[in-house]
Amino acid sequence: MASKRILIVDDEENIGRSLRLILEREGYAISLCRSIREFRAHPDAERADAFLFDVRLPDGSGIELLRSVRQNGNPAPDRRVEKTPAEWRQQLTPEQYQVTRQAGTERAFSSQMCSLFEPGTYSCLCCETILFDASEKFESGTGWPSFTQPVTTNVIAYRFDGPAFLKRVETICNTCDAHLGHVFPDGPAPSGLRYCMNAVALKKIAKPVAS
Ligand SMILES: [Zn+2]
Repeated sequence: MASKRILIVDDEENIGRSLRLILEREGYAISLCRSIREFRAHPDAERADAFLFDVRLPDGSGIELLRSVRQNGNPAPDRRVEKTPAEWRQQLTPEQYQVTRQAGTERAFSSQMCSLFEPGTYSCLCCETILFDASEKFESGTGWPSFTQPVTTNVIAYRFDGPAFLKRVETICNTCDAHLGHVFPDGPAPSGLRYCMNAVALKKIAKPVAS
């Protein structure tokens, strides 16, 4: 019996027979979605071990960004913050350490941050680099705070695990390498991306009141 699940989003009637054969030989149980909408509603959307998107489907600048990063590497950050594991342990709670330094995932719907849409910015919990503006936050219904793009391209770095778009794309803080979450190509305009973040990895900063 297949032990791994792969979700494939493709507008073709069927994925190629040879691809299906390869994936099944690799031990994947295949679920096929015909559209991004179907993908969002699929029970395996957050749990599958691997994803394969037909990258012609989402029409956003974010897909181009991921392609470019995949080919040319991550953009250079403005600054770097590097600390030893012991130093991070001292700064963070055990849960914060597990998520940000050991690539953990908090439980869905575990934070009130999902339903907060007040103006302000969200920074990296570990190094306080500003990552997202509240205006880019949207209700994804997934139970994790979701954004469509970072404040600037070079604050986030991407880790591609395996062939392009076959695995989830991990997002990390480009300044301190904190694990933030993953990015999926099923978000709204303008990027077409959904930055699915762990609330525990972020710090909300309220916008200063204009005087
Ligand atoms: Zn950071």
